[in-house]
Amino acid sequence: MKSRIPSLTSLAGVPVRVRRVPDVRKETERLGYEAGKEKLAGVCLRHPKGKKGMEILVDSTLPLREQSSTFLHEVIHALFPDLSESMVLKIERGLFPILWRRGFRPFGEQDE
Ligand SMILES: [Zn+2]
Repeated sequence: MKSRIPSLTSLAGVPVRVRRVPDVRKETERLGYEAGKEKLAGVCLRHPKGKKGMEILVDSTLPLREQSSTFLHEVIHALFPDLSESMVLKIERGLFPILWRRGFRPFGEQDE
């Protein structure tokens, strides 16, 4: 099934581009951001160079459930930029299982 998330969406009025890529760290660097050395499941980038809004990248090599959880995680970052990583993780881990059971499938039902 095709992704249900359009590549360009909007969160609280801010345009957000959502892309799944095989190497989030490499793509983050390609876009001109520091990415560190560790593998990244996802990132939320603010104001990518030359573009308005935000960009969310999710690792396309992860199982779909993890991609979905990562997407939720990055959406929380996008909506609440001042929240600490540990708070974002708490919200993700608390909310995601409920949403998943209720059919939250932002990238469709199965891997493409
Ligand atoms: Zn995070």
